[in-house]
Amino acid sequence: MSVVTRFAPSPTGRLHVGNIRTALHNWMWARKSGGRFLLRIDDTDRERSREEHVASIRADLSWLGLVPDGETRQSGRFDLYEQRFAGLAAAGRVYPAYETQQELDLKRKILLGRGLPPIYDRAALALTDADRARLEAEGIRPHWRFRLDHSAPIEWHDLIRGPQRFDPATMSDPVVRRADGSWLYLLPSVIDDIEMAVTHVVRGEDHVSNTAAQLQMFDALGAVPPAFAHEALLTGAEGKLSKRLGSLGADHFREAGIEPQAIIALLARLGTSDPVEPHIGTAPLFDSFDFARFGRAPARFDEAELAQVNARILHQLDYEAVASRLPAGMDAAGWLAIRPNLSILAETAGWWQVVEGPVAAMSEPEDAEFLAQAAAAAASLDWSGDPWHALTATLKDMTGRKGKALFLPLRRALTGRDSGPDMAALLPLIGRDRALARLRGSS
Ligand code: GLU
Repeated sequence: MSVVTRFAPSPTGRLHVGNIRTALHNWMWARKSGGRFLLRIDDTDRERSREEHVASIRADLSWLGLVPDGETRQSGRFDLYEQRFAGLAAAGRVYPAYETQQELDLKRKILLGRGLPPIYDRAALALTDADRARLEAEGIRPHWRFRLDHSAPIEWHDLIRGPQRFDPATMSDPVVRRADGSWLYLLPSVIDDIEMAVTHVVRGEDHVSNTAAQLQMFDALGAVPPAFAHEALLTGAEGKLSKRLGSLGADHFREAGIEPQAIIALLARLGTSDPVEPHIGTAPLFDSFDFARFGRAPARFDEAELAQVNARILHQLDYEAVASRLPAGMDAAGWLAIRPNLSILAETAGWWQVVEGPVAAMSEPEDAEFLAQAAAAAASLDWSGDPWHALTATLKDMTGRKGKALFLPLRRALTGRDSGPDMAALLPLIGRDRALARLRGSS
């Protein structure tokens, strides 16, 4: 069996970190198994769906490297839904219902008032042909419900949550189509999952009760259902379901200087029993990826942890991977010298400025003599080898200084800063002429 997964966002907004995680896990499961990862745009809701969101979903997936092997759109498949719906209507698995929203609300209130669960009473099933004809003659158009089969419990083995069991008699027959003919999410999704030969549905646990109803829809449509994996939702760092998470998307991360690899490395492992590690390649992430390793407790998404992973990713990235985003003139040696100091790539420009200058003068008057000695020593150094160690060894012998008293005035004069990348890597990049000028205080 060849694995097929799908990521099925509704284009009613931008992807947020929870959606990105779902997309990633679908992508990983397909890639790991040599299968296919499909993007399905769930745009049956014509009023709330926006083309700009479709474009941003594609762009975000591409930035993250989660490239789909195919894309479908529900709005292009209405004929198919119509056909399957007709079959279900002929078999009596969907039925027309004529209650208004107010009537339904009232029924709910009455049941709740009696301490009963607000389950739809199936009054529409008792209507005769004559009743329906009369209602339609009054201009009332029906919405449509899927008739759940109450004869047996609905059971499945969820790849994350384990054995699941629902009693259909405790569920309302779900509305699958509105009175204006438009589709709700449940049925088209099942029709598509069958048509697209989806083998694994990976989504958030907010869909668990939908799955119970959808399993009966697969059956009613004569299909074997896919496997299901319902993931615990993400919470904010403070441990609560957080509104803020809903607004954190690829744009936010990109602007904050987060590399896609950092997002992947974190979200691949968050909520699993494996530690978060700053892997650049996906192979080690694939190796350990398995739904059985996901816990049922909500996973905590912490931007501070993401920032740390990001730094550790940057410290490993090759020059070739970042060259097009580096300051003009910066070469591989420059990147290797500066990379260990970065939290985000954009900081490179500041450090490259330290190499190229000018740098702010930053020396104490009491170091003037020492720096004059340093300039003299630097002038007669062999710059082709390891000038920093040669310079500091010479100055140590000449002045008896050591430790901070030796290194800090040099770092300040040479870089205009108190701290930064390893001077042994930086000094050859600064080079003889600029170093002499800075030590002499003339640049
Ligand atoms: N469009 C649905 C959503 O965004 C898809 C759920 C599913 O994966 O089936 O929630």
